[in-house]
Order: sequence, then structure tokens, then C-alpha cells
Amino acid sequence: MESNNGLHFKVCACGCETTFMGRSNRKFLNTRHKSKVNNQIRSNRRKVLVPTFEKMERCYRLLQKIKEEGKLKVWMPISDLTRKGFDPNIPTTRLKDKKTGTEHMVLLNFAYRISGEGTQIIIFELNN
Ligand SMILES: [Zn+2]
Repeated sequence: MESNNGLHFKVCACGCETTFMGRSNRKFLNTRHKSKVNNQIRSNRRKVLVPTFEKMERCYRLLQKIKEEGKLKVWMPISDLTRKGFDPNIPTTRLKDKKTGTEHMVLLNFAYRISGEGTQIIIFELNN
């Protein structure tokens, strides 16, 4: 590369192909171009988690909707939820009722249980 007062002819490393004159250790046109690359790296790392996060969010919104509709603490067909995108197999923590021994799946402030034959669901809201 040509040298001119310690400045070199550079091509921005973000991929935008902008050329500039800069010191040898300068890689990017400016901090905006640098953060674009860093954001891309972060977003790629997160990409593998996104489908699961989106599924969990959809499930959580559906549980909130059930609450708004006043349908907590009653058994209902799980198909009412699954046809709207609810996936009972999302990652959840488990909570065991000490009195009855029944296990609930917990998603944030909601707990739910699926009937033995897998056709019914009952949803509770947990008190903090
Ligand atoms: Zn750039």
C-alpha cells in the first residue's frame, strides 16, 4: 500500500468497500462501520437461540391471553392453544406440587400442566 505522511490507502473492513486514508492500524472508516461489524458478530452468535426465544415468546403471549380471557385454573383443550402456535415442549423449568406430587411446567410467572392423555391443559399464575 502507498504511504503518505504515515497514512495508508485503506479499504474499510466492514465490507462497504469505502476507501479512506488512515493509519496502518485503522481498519474501519469510522466507529459506525466498526460497530456494524461488532453487531453482526453478536447477532450471528445469538442466531442459534432466536427460534427458541421466539417460540417461548409466542407461548408466553398465549398464556397472557388466557389470563386476560379469565381462563386460568380450568382445564381446556390443549388444541385451543396449539393451533395458535403454542408448543408445550418449549424449554421450561419444573415445579412439583408438594401436596399432590403433580409436576407443572413453568414459564416465567405461569405454570401449566398437561393431562395424562395430552389433550387438556390447565394454566396457573404464580404469585411472586
Ligand atoms: Zn465500512
